[in-house]
Amino acid sequence: MLKYIIENFSASSNHMDTLRESIHDYQAFMVSKGLLGRRDDMRIESLETGRISAGGVLAQGDFPPSDTGLVGESKETCRRLIQKREDVMRLADDVDVQVFDLSQTQDLHYCNHSKWSGLVLCAEADWPMGITPVICCECGGLVARFRVPVSQKTASNIWSFCVESFCVEACWSASGVLEAWANGERHDPLSRINTLGLSIVKSTQSDTGIDTWLYIPLRTSTTATTCPLCEEEMSSLDSPFFWNYRCSDCRIVTSNRSAPWLVV
Ligand SMILES: [Zn+2]
Ligand SMILES: [Zn+2]
Repeated sequence: MLKYIIENFSASSNHMDTLRESIHDYQAFMVSKGLLGRRDDMRIESLETGRISAGGVLAQGDFPPSDTGLVGESKETCRRLIQKREDVMRLADDVDVQVFDLSQTQDLHYCNHSKWSGLVLCAEADWPMGITPVICCECGGLVARFRVPVSQKTASNIWSFCVESFCVEACWSASGVLEAWANGERHDPLSRINTLGLSIVKSTQSDTGIDTWLYIPLRTSTTATTCPLCEEEMSSLDSPFFWNYRCSDCRIVTSNRSAPWLVV
């Protein structure tokens, strides 16, 4: 289950701007190393009481991360992280840390690998907005977007995919006037969202050399297992994760199980 963390920093009003900047720097570093899966905007609650709240989804390990909590990270990363934390704590008089379980993420966890042999881009999900759509093929864990060493352009396309696919899912599950449109976006390999997904798959592969796939849900939960793009029979996979068919030519994975993310 993913955890959401809120840190409330207190400081005197003449330190607020500098404190805000150093928290921002510290958090950006955490996100870039995959320690926070998502960062929310900071709020200055009140200048008089001198409180700044910073929140985000905790990706791995303990908080605040110790050098032993940084799986697979170099000594230099640990040193810089500790330094940034110290910069924050020098300016803050006090910090109060609250950690909550994100109950809708019961089966979700972050991947601790630092190298990947395969990645799946997936919008078919029941997790909160802003959570990465990238999944590790080895452990089935979420890979924080900034950890994948892609080009700036691919990174910004992944962010668009992350936000827009969430909106498509929301329109689909609202079962209102946009349901039919959202259904087309989800299932049609040539829809705008899946076209974006397939272009990310291609550019991630060329940026990183990592085998990458797009998850497209089948139209029904029947046993039809032809590729939604080339319509050839897909190969069945002995996968412990929610996808169990793939087309190697089109770089598409799918599942013929209903509500597949529940079986993770
Ligand atoms: Zn992994
Ligand atoms: Zn195909």
